[in-house]
Amino acid sequence: MPTITLRLELHNPTKAKQEMYERMTEWNTEFANWLLHHPELNKATSKIFKDFSSQKFPSAIVNQTIREVKSQKKKQKAKKFRTFWCCFNNQNIKVEKKGAFYTVSFPTLEKRIGVPVVTRPYQEAWLDRLIHGTAKQGAAKLYKKRKKWCLAIAVAFEVKPRHETKVMGVDVGLRYIAVASVGTKSWFFKGSQCAFVRRRYAALRRTLGQAKKLHMIRKIGDKESRWMKDMNHKISRQIVRFALANGVGVIRMEDLAGIRKRAASAKEAGRNLHSWAFHQLQTMIAYKAEMAGIRVEWVNPTYTSQTCRCGHREKANRNGIHFRCQKCGYTIHADLNGAINIAKAISGFAAQPSALVTGAPPIGVHLNPMGRGDGTLLNLGVV
Ligand SMILES: [Zn+2]
Repeated sequence: MPTITLRLELHNPTKAKQEMYERMTEWNTEFANWLLHHPELNKATSKIFKDFSSQKFPSAIVNQTIREVKSQKKKQKAKKFRTFWCCFNNQNIKVEKKGAFYTVSFPTLEKRIGVPVVTRPYQEAWLDRLIHGTAKQGAAKLYKKRKKWCLAIAVAFEVKPRHETKVMGVDVGLRYIAVASVGTKSWFFKGSQCAFVRRRYAALRRTLGQAKKLHMIRKIGDKESRWMKDMNHKISRQIVRFALANGVGVIRMEDLAGIRKRAASAKEAGRNLHSWAFHQLQTMIAYKAEMAGIRVEWVNPTYTSQTCRCGHREKANRNGIHFRCQKCGYTIHADLNGAINIAKAISGFAAQPSALVTGAPPIGVHLNPMGRGDGTLLNLGVV
């Protein structure tokens, strides 16, 4: 079953609650480090916490910590944990909807509490699925990021395979962020606004760079990448929706290594739109497609933009956004030609597409894999 991770910010926790979460994390970290060097770690049950401290600590968290420390020790990864966030298994965390708001309840130092969470529409859809039982809730982690307390909840779900057979090609590019082609239909997603924003940020960075305001530069970088990520979410969602509406069973994209080769110049590739943004977009399309039961295939990007429908391939066929076959004279928008050729897998399939294999969620998007099914622990590691 594919698994995604919902990252939900806790809505305005009181000072007292924040201090409690802080304390819980501190104790849990100390406990985890104490456990790591305990001679009888393998036999440990939740009772072992009494040997560590006379404080009261939720056994639900203790159990999860024991399980995770055991597995970390087996892998011999950790010598000392810097931060060991509190985790809960699926039995100990509950999502509810109260009016227009969603709350999540979990055990704490005082008692079990239900706290409101900040949600985005796509997250609400997942929370509804949890509440209605059409998705399965896994383990959860209470953690702090950028001074905000959050809950990461693993969600597992079934995918109904689709029986559609149509193939859609998706070309990601510099002039158009994405061009999709299925049969005789095509769809262009303009990237000009993305390019514009990126240029503006690049200019700002140069100015700041001269003033050596490194901190500011880093802050702008964060802002820019968050903006791009939002954009990519929107585009990928629309592309998958387009695919579903057109009876697509397979989406084909270029294996990303080809992008740099295709850019007119290093400057164009690097400044206007960094290749990480393309990679992120492809990753999101792939994952959203797989969630919708659409198969994803990767195509070798060589010559997809230079080949004509008549079969003639020549570099001169393509000139910017214009494609004009030097042999038969056929003309078409170059990016659309690319998308059509990708759909036809004109230069064959890529041998080993990056990390994107069906069923394995990609890293680095909001859909981070955390655990498989319920009861599995999250990837806390040493933070
Ligand atoms: Zn031709």
